[in-house]
Amino acid sequence: MRESFLSFSPPCLGEEEIAEVVDTLRSDWITTGPKTRRFEKEFARFIGAEEALAVNSATSAMLVGLAAAGVGPGDEVITTTMTFCSTVHVIEHVGATPVLVDVERDTLNLDPAAVEAAITPRTKAIIPVHLYGHPCDMGSLVPLARKHGLLLLEDAAHALPARHLGRMIGTIGDLTAFSFYATKNLTTAEGGMLTGAPELLEKCRLWSLHGMSRDAYKRYSAEGSWYYEVVVPGFKCNMTDIQAALGLHQLARLPAFQRRRREIVARYTEAFSTLPELEVPVEREGMESAWHLYVLRLHLQRLQIDRARFIEELRRRNIGASVHFIPVHMHPYYRERYHYAEESFPTAAGEFRRLVSLPLHPRLTEEDVEDVIEAVGDIVTLHRR
Ligand SMILES: *Cc1c(COP(=O)(O)O)cnc(C)c1O
Repeated sequence: MRESFLSFSPPCLGEEEIAEVVDTLRSDWITTGPKTRRFEKEFARFIGAEEALAVNSATSAMLVGLAAAGVGPGDEVITTTMTFCSTVHVIEHVGATPVLVDVERDTLNLDPAAVEAAITPRTKAIIPVHLYGHPCDMGSLVPLARKHGLLLLEDAAHALPARHLGRMIGTIGDLTAFSFYATKNLTTAEGGMLTGAPELLEKCRLWSLHGMSRDAYKRYSAEGSWYYEVVVPGFKCNMTDIQAALGLHQLARLPAFQRRRREIVARYTEAFSTLPELEVPVEREGMESAWHLYVLRLHLQRLQIDRARFIEELRRRNIGASVHFIPVHMHPYYRERYHYAEESFPTAAGEFRRLVSLPLHPRLTEEDVEDVIEAVGDIVTLHRR
């Protein structure tokens, strides 16, 4: 058994990131400025998007996207119950009504047939979540959104970089929100990015900084002017140059990070496929997952222990593990406000009980990976029926 605790998802920061942050701190500009603008440009180029807008989180990116698209009270927004709570919170924040739907069995991504069935005359937007980094079925969702004139705002917090039939996530829907939270594939500690068409992104930019018609950098830099106008009651969720300093170097390292993630995924899947007590994650034909998370599903009827005990046993063997996610409809706020039962979304509720996320990050060594495999194998062997 390993001696030290294996962290579930530590950040992967190097000397380049540290030096760039120090350079920013020694400069005259620490908030949104030249490094944020450069990060936006380089991010857009990496994705192949026309433009990008840096903000302080994916949550803010989605909030700004909904506000800029005019989604508000009386409107309905369809999203998945199998997501982090903030995907749904932002719908509440703009005063609209979230309409949750169930997921597909293999990917746990929202089911396009369930989305179609949930569309009403009040529906204004769909928020697909590319769960664990695996692209949603955009081949069904894009025509559906078009047919009904709905905003397609993608939660790509896990999906950097991912491809759907060769197209990068971030170039498909009307707006795509990425997260640079501490545990994500690319981190700026806290941070986020929106990609989309330039006209809509300009509205988002306005909403992301007080609704002011010029941002602070332009106002105070040499070529700028002191004049601005407030045209909408915007939010305050701009990215700082300290964060962008991290992002610039994380972006340069992202391809290497992804190669390492895929190696680890291949090794895990090779090892776990031999155990009938486990179900390994899939990558559908034509899809390229960002592999943000490696999520095993337990065949509980083949085991004498439940998921909670499985994670406890991993912890005893010094392996950090987690669960992504508790379905949103099972949390008290949403359950009580919208009168959901656990079985309102049977696939999500049923699969939730079987989920275990294992450590998956570029800092894992070969020994770390083998330690995880050994610990999982040991638990299965000891507790199989
Ligand atoms: C992390 C996460 C978010 C929120 O990202 P922030 O940048 O922390 O706001 C949203 N959706 C999903 C699916 C996430 O995992």
